[in-house]
Amino acid sequence: MSISYVNGRYVPHHEASVHIEDRGFQFADAVYEVFAVQGAHLIDENGHLERLERSLGELNIPMPMIHAALKLVMRQLLRANRLRYGSLYLQVSRGVAPRDFPAPHGLTPTLVMTVMRQKPFDPVSALKGTKVITTPDIRWKRCDIKTVQLLAGVMSKTAAYAQGAAEAWLLDDQDNITEGSSSNAWIVTADDELVTRHTDHAILGGITRKTVMKLAEQNGLMYIERTFSLGEAKAAREAFTTSSTVMVRPVTYIDDSPIGDGVCGPFCQKLIELYGAYMKQGPSA
Ligand code: PMP
Repeated sequence: MSISYVNGRYVPHHEASVHIEDRGFQFADAVYEVFAVQGAHLIDENGHLERLERSLGELNIPMPMIHAALKLVMRQLLRANRLRYGSLYLQVSRGVAPRDFPAPHGLTPTLVMTVMRQKPFDPVSALKGTKVITTPDIRWKRCDIKTVQLLAGVMSKTAAYAQGAAEAWLLDDQDNITEGSSSNAWIVTADDELVTRHTDHAILGGITRKTVMKLAEQNGLMYIERTFSLGEAKAAREAFTTSSTVMVRPVTYIDDSPIGDGVCGPFCQKLIELYGAYMKQGPSA
């Protein structure tokens, strides 16, 4: 049994609950972050907290506490659970109020955190190829805000699993890939160009995406941020996804098209190696 955090209290997971008039429950009026935990360290802690603050700012929800205090609570929760490998989920909603659309002022935000235990990141099993399906991106026009309004992602990921795939890549109206249901999408083109879509309101600026860019740059791998089409992705030498949950994961099939040789390619292999080493380093920026 794990321990969760709810508004100032550390409670057994099965007792952790919020009010039925919480605006997160009623309106998805809430944002979240998922932190990977490796060796009891929160990976890219500051990056996630900065994005949390940005998402909240876009919705005019106050930060529930300052960064330093959030860090203390997160560490306390990891300790209470003796969690070394897995993830920490953090959600902030606008708070509890009688159900009405306009966002009330002055509510106390609801802050909850849960943890999940997982196996340590293993750079060898991470090389295993996966399949993605493609499906229209039916989400709203502010995907840069990390809200809990995730129904489109639930639908596309469920469809992916039903077809034996690990992820769904989402297509805009021009058949360009925006991102995955819960990950960012990357390809290596026939000309060895490492590409991921530029950030704007159409995708979430992934923290793992940003770290992978930094690692690529530090190791002499050039990348470009631009739109890429489904056709380009299917003709690519390599494809992969990034997120705090899957880290760097090779994509070896898009729909029924094998990508490259149908196995994890050299760019992706290198990035898995670099990302594994980065997480082992311990506390990071
Ligand atoms: N895009 C979407 C839509 C996501 O839900 C996620 C994961 N939450 C990502 C990208 C990857 O973001 P991160 O690397 O910060 O986990």
